[in-house]
Amino acid sequence: MAGATQDFDAVVIGAGFSGMYMLKSLRDKLGLKVRVYEAGETVGGTWYWNRYPGARCDSDSYIYCFTFDKQLLQEWEWTERYPEQPEILRYLEHVAERHDLKRDMQFNTRVTGAEFDEKSNLWRVRTDKGESVTARYLVAAVGSLSHTNMPQFKGLQSFKGKWYHTSRFPHAGVDFTNKRVGVVGTGATAVQAIPEIAQQAKQLIVFQRTANYCVPARNGKVDPDLVKARKADYDGIVERIRDSFFGQEHYFIPKSALEATPEEREREFDKRWDAGGFGFWLGNYEDMFFNKEANDLCADYLKRKIRRTVKDPVVAEKLIPNDYAYGTKRQPLDTNYYETFNKDSVLLVDAKADGGIEEITEKGIRAGGKEYELDIIVFATGFDAMTGPLKALNLRGRGGRTLDKEWAHGPHTYLGISVAGFPNLFTITGPQSPSVLSNMPVSIEQHVDWVTDCIAHMRKSGKTVIDALPQAQEQWVAHVNETVSETLMTSANSWYMSANIPGKPRAFLPYLGPEGVGGYRKKCDEVAANGYEGFELK
Ligand SMILES: Cc1cc2nc3c(=O)[nH]c(=O)nc-3n(C[C@H](O)[C@H](O)[C@H](O)COP(=O)(O)OP(=O)(O)OC[C@H]3O[C@@H](n4cnc5c(N)ncnc54)[C@H](O)[C@@H]3O)c2cc1C
Repeated sequence: MAGATQDFDAVVIGAGFSGMYMLKSLRDKLGLKVRVYEAGETVGGTWYWNRYPGARCDSDSYIYCFTFDKQLLQEWEWTERYPEQPEILRYLEHVAERHDLKRDMQFNTRVTGAEFDEKSNLWRVRTDKGESVTARYLVAAVGSLSHTNMPQFKGLQSFKGKWYHTSRFPHAGVDFTNKRVGVVGTGATAVQAIPEIAQQAKQLIVFQRTANYCVPARNGKVDPDLVKARKADYDGIVERIRDSFFGQEHYFIPKSALEATPEEREREFDKRWDAGGFGFWLGNYEDMFFNKEANDLCADYLKRKIRRTVKDPVVAEKLIPNDYAYGTKRQPLDTNYYETFNKDSVLLVDAKADGGIEEITEKGIRAGGKEYELDIIVFATGFDAMTGPLKALNLRGRGGRTLDKEWAHGPHTYLGISVAGFPNLFTITGPQSPSVLSNMPVSIEQHVDWVTDCIAHMRKSGKTVIDALPQAQEQWVAHVNETVSETLMTSANSWYMSANIPGKPRAFLPYLGPEGVGGYRKKCDEVAANGYEGFELK
C-alpha cells in the first residue's frame, strides 16, 4: 500500500453515543475528514438495538446524556427519571440532526476488517458492502455491550415457536398476549423485561441461572423544582460527575459498615432503598466492595427485602443469591420484579440447580429433566462484553498481529484506549478503562476529548504515528489487575470477569481504580501533559 492515497483522516466505527461525539469532535473541532460506519440503520447504538419490553437506562436521565452541548442540557426535557429506549433513541436522533452528523455517517454497513500498513502508516478498512478505504486514524466506537451473546443451546433450530434475543428485538415489538413465554436469564435486562412480559403473557416461565440482588428503580416523573435546580446547576453537576468515582452523583459513606451501629446501618440502607437507583450499589459503605463481612451486611438487607416481598418462601429462597458478594455483578434496578413472582401465571425455574438448560426442544425448553412447553422464548443472555466487539473487527496491527492472539489470556491495553502494536487505533471505553463501571456518557466524553487532544497534538507537532509502548501497557495491565484484586469483584462469575462466555479467558474487563473515574481522568491527563508518556510518537 506504499504511496496509497488517504481517503479519510479518520474512520470511526459505530454511531452510538461514542461514535456520534467522536465525529462531532474530530470534524467540528479539528476540521478532519471523517467517515463513520455503522451496522445499524441509524444512530443510537445500544438504544437502536435493545428494544425489548421495559428497556430503559438505569443511570438517572439528567446525567445519562451528552454534556458537551450546554444549550441542549437546558433545552432537553426527559419525561422520566429513567426514560425508555424510544425516548433515548429520539434524543440521540435529535443530537445527530442538531449537529448535522448523518452526512458523514454510512449506515447498514459493518466493518469486517482493518489492517495497519506500516509503509504508509494508514489503516485500510474493509466493510461488508465491499468498500475498502484508508484513514490515518481508526477509532473503535463499537460499544462495550454490543456483541450479542447467544449461547449455543442444543436443539434451538428444532423449536417450532418464535425466539428472540433482547438485543435484537423486532422493531414492531412482540405480542405476548395469550402466549406461553420463556425468559432465559435474570440479569439487568431480564429484570426490566420480566415484569412487562408477565403483564401480557398467559404464562411466563423464567429460567434463572444466577439469582440477582435487585434494588428498586423508583422510576417516575421528576419533581419540576428538582429539574429546574439541576438545570441551574449543570456546570456544577458536570464537574462533580467527572471527578466522581462512578461518573454519578453517588458517594461512598466514609466509614466501614462494621463500625456503624445496626440502627445507623439500617437508616443508611433504608435511605438508599427508598431513594431507588444506583445509590445502594455505588454509594454505600466504603468497604462494601472490599470486605466480605461488610458486604454481607449490605447483602443481608437486600435478602430480607426479597423474603418480605416474595410470598412463596421456596421461590424467595431461589431468588436469593448465595454464591457471590453483593455488587460484584451489574446491579439490576427493578420495577415490580420480585412482585411478579407472586403472580399465579409466573413460574421460576432454577435452571442451574437442576443442571442447567439441557436442550431446546420442538415444544419448548427442557431443564432439570422436565420439558416446559412454550410459544415464545426470549433470550436475555447479554453480551460478549468489551472485548467481543473489538475482536470481531478482525484488526491486523504491526506485523499482522491480531487481537485474538494478543488477548488470548485477556485484554492487554494501555489506559484502555490503545493497544501496543496497533498504531493510531483508539478504543472508546475500551477494556481496562472505567467504561461499564461508570455512567458511560461521562467516560465516553472523557475518551473522545482525550483522543481529540491527542490527534490535535500530533498534527501540531508533525507526528503521524502514535503507538503504546509494550512496557507501559504491561504496567497498566498489572495496575488494573492489582487494584481489582484488592476488591471482591474477582470472586464472582460475572460478565465483568468474562465468566458468562464459555472459553473466554477469565479476566476483569473494566478498570476499577482506587480513585475511580476522576482518578482515571487525572491519570490520562497526566500522560498527555507529559508528552504522551508511555506512547511512542513519530
Ligand atoms: C440494555 C442496556 C442498558 C444500558 N443502560 C445503561 C445505563 O443506564 N447507564 C450507562 O451508563 N450505560 C448503560 N448501558 C451501556 C450503554 O451501552 C452505554 O451507555 C452507551 O450507550 C454506549 O455507547 P457506545 O456508542 O459506546 O456503544 P453502543 O451504543 O453499543 O454503539 C456501538 C455501535 O457500534 C456499532 N458497531 C459495532 N461493531 C461494528 C462494526 N464492526 N461495524 C459497524 N458498526 C459496528 C453497533 O452496531 C453499535 O450501534 C446500557 C446498555 C444496555 C445494553
